[in-house]
Amino acid sequence: MPTDSIAPRRPRSAVFLDRDGVINENRSDYVRSTEQLHIFPATLPALARLAQSEHAIVIVTNQSAIGRGLVSAETVAQTNHYLLERIHAAGGRIDALYLCPHAPDDACECRKPRPGLLLQAGSELQLDLTRSWLIGDAISDLQAAIASGVRPILVGTGRGKEASLQLASEGLANISFLPDLVEAVEHVLASA
Ligand SMILES: [Mg+2]
Ligand SMILES: [Zn+2]
Repeated sequence: MPTDSIAPRRPRSAVFLDRDGVINENRSDYVRSTEQLHIFPATLPALARLAQSEHAIVIVTNQSAIGRGLVSAETVAQTNHYLLERIHAAGGRIDALYLCPHAPDDACECRKPRPGLLLQAGSELQLDLTRSWLIGDAISDLQAAIASGVRPILVGTGRGKEASLQLASEGLANISFLPDLVEAVEHVLASA
């Protein structure tokens, strides 16, 4: 009899990562090619460190440039493939990537601040969302996390400093606000 039938595996926790502004530089006119993807220098070592943990590591990203007709889904997929290769080559790991390709007017269920991407990942990867984290640089990231029972962390990279000024007026004053992905990963690893 397999040993895991004696001790059922505890659902895994996850660290959800927003992409633009957390892993790589945000662009106000969208990252529309691999050439425009500028990974923050501190990202790769931080993700290599996070990869040593038991957390599932999942990117959740709004890519409305697809729905707006500014870039093809294929180009975004190529850019993400390149990003994941860079992360893996540096000793990191991304277990899954979920993206919303829709424009704001599409009224989809997956565009953050809606929780669709997180809930889909939680179901498909059998995650314990209440023990999971989301690291983002926008109020909409934090709202998606809260709506799905995930603990949010705001980082000061990308649009994060601007977002930090809105925390109180959005009723999010007690959210953890940390300078960057390095500090956010340390915070996660130091917590249960
Ligand atoms: Mg972002
Ligand atoms: Zn969507």
